Amino acid sequence: MDKISVIVSCFNEEKALPLFYKEMEKQIKNFQNVEFEYIFVDDGSSDNTLKIMKDLHQKDSKVRYISFSRNFGKESAMYAGLEASTGDFVTLMDADLQDPPALLKEMYDYIKNDGFDIVGTRRVTRKGEPPIRSFFARMFYKIINKMSKVQMVDGARDYMLMTRQATNSLLELKEYNRYSKGLFSFIGYKVKWLEYENIERVAGETKWSFWKLFKYAIEGITAFSTTPLIFSSVLGILFCIISFLLIIIIIGKTLIYGDPTSGWPSLVCIIFMVSGIQLFSLGIIGQYLSKTYLEVKKRPVYIVRETSENPK
Ligand code: UDP
Ligand code: MG
Repeated sequence: MDKISVIVSCFNEEKALPLFYKEMEKQIKNFQNVEFEYIFVDDGSSDNTLKIMKDLHQKDSKVRYISFSRNFGKESAMYAGLEASTGDFVTLMDADLQDPPALLKEMYDYIKNDGFDIVGTRRVTRKGEPPIRSFFARMFYKIINKMSKVQMVDGARDYMLMTRQATNSLLELKEYNRYSKGLFSFIGYKVKWLEYENIERVAGETKWSFWKLFKYAIEGITAFSTTPLIFSSVLGILFCIISFLLIIIIIGKTLIYGDPTSGWPSLVCIIFMVSGIQLFSLGIIGQYLSKTYLEVKKRPVYIVRETSENPK
């Protein structure tokens, strides 16, 4: 008999979680000869999410939970869930039903019958999202796929079903700065993509502001590409060449026409521009340095306050 571990990361999902559980229980009935296990990860919620998890655990022995000591972010929550999972297959889902549990049967069949290792999902529309956000999201995928060897799929969600083997590969990537979309494509394997239209969340609110998404995008780029570092070298060389040419021109002009003092405004502009570029390059290097700094500290990805195996 196969076992599927359902990992759900929850941050203030008291409204959505009961609805999610109900819907999942309905979907489970479509499976024959498959055992299920839920791993609910409470990512430092400040509402009643943990209490709901505990109640579900009391009622249903399939339910396990892990509760963090504070909010560590969805990436950490997913990692904790993967570590705790015991199933032959593992699926990652959001609590807000934006990842339709109804797809799970199809995903499972692809792995069982067609020899895939991972079945991922991507949304083909971004309905219900502010247009400006969709625009930046598209730009981001264009840029990162140019810069990185690991290809990221536009609209790919974290919702996926994978084999134990793929799960273990993912767990071997122990980095502190976890950009999961990149990690998933890094491990490779045979991946089948299922497409669906964007669905709006059933209850509660999105936890992603534009600023948070922007920082996440920078995270993705620095985690999977070192191309920005080349920018500074290229710009540096370019400016050396330009200044060399300018020096020759100026010497020539001075020799021919003498040396009247002028050109103060243009000088200021050049100083501003060049120092701007220097600061920009320094910023890029700083980004990588800070990531390295956090990485060498080897801090844990998450800290557990209590679990269903070890309740408080
Ligand atoms: N989430 C989390 N920790 C966080 C932020 C979000 O575990 O710090 C969970 C959240 O509870 C939800 C999932 O990640 O189950 C996706 O979050 P959300 O729906 O806010 O993102 P969106 O679907 O809008 O991209
Ligand atoms: Mg959502």
